[in-house]
Amino acid sequence: MQEAIKLYELQKVDLAWLKVARRLQQVQHQLGESETVRAARQQVTETETMLHQWHTKQKDAELESKSLATRIKSTEDKLMSGSVRDPKELNNLQENLESLRRHRTLVDDQAVEALMHADELTGQLSDQQRDLSRLEGEWTSGQSDLKQEETKLKQNYILLKRKREALAAALPAALLERYDTMRKRKAGIAVAPVQSGVCGACHVQIPTGIVNGLGSSTATLTVCPSCGRYLVAG
Ligand SMILES: [Zn+2]
Repeated sequence: MQEAIKLYELQKVDLAWLKVARRLQQVQHQLGESETVRAARQQVTETETMLHQWHTKQKDAELESKSLATRIKSTEDKLMSGSVRDPKELNNLQENLESLRRHRTLVDDQAVEALMHADELTGQLSDQQRDLSRLEGEWTSGQSDLKQEETKLKQNYILLKRKREALAAALPAALLERYDTMRKRKAGIAVAPVQSGVCGACHVQIPTGIVNGLGSSTATLTVCPSCGRYLVAG
């Protein structure tokens, strides 16, 4: 077999190998913790914390309202009892009563506001929990698919590695080195097939003399006059 054809076979294996290695990297990256699931879980935790805070505020406000109600009641009782006769003291009691009532209105408003926030958050939380369990479900089933794909990719990777070793062993070391260097410099393609008289890599017309020489069994390595890659009959 011509060296150019052997190199071309080697390149096919190398390209397939690279593809497998890249996909394997992607798959291994997706295995394990999922960023989306983690973010959704974080969201749920944050909403739960906020909901707890508003519930606490609501309960505190209700407790305060109750204690104010007790104080209002006892102040009213005192005013009604007739036991206080001093006008100044009566006036103080009346003012105190009004202040307590105003305060209670304020506290009741706070309780209602807290309840509204809590209701809204309860709705959000249930949406977020539903999203989270859907994402967790998708993630779990995706993981088993990915695990299977990983196993296949690893097998392919080893297979291609062996194939490459066998192909490389049949080529002179100096040529392999030139091939590797050229692949690094020329976007991974060191060997290009000539199709309809055109270089398969740079698409420039190849002189007929060169094209005709490619088919002969004694052909030496020929490079594309335009891109410098090794040419092989397509
Ligand atoms: Zn070319």
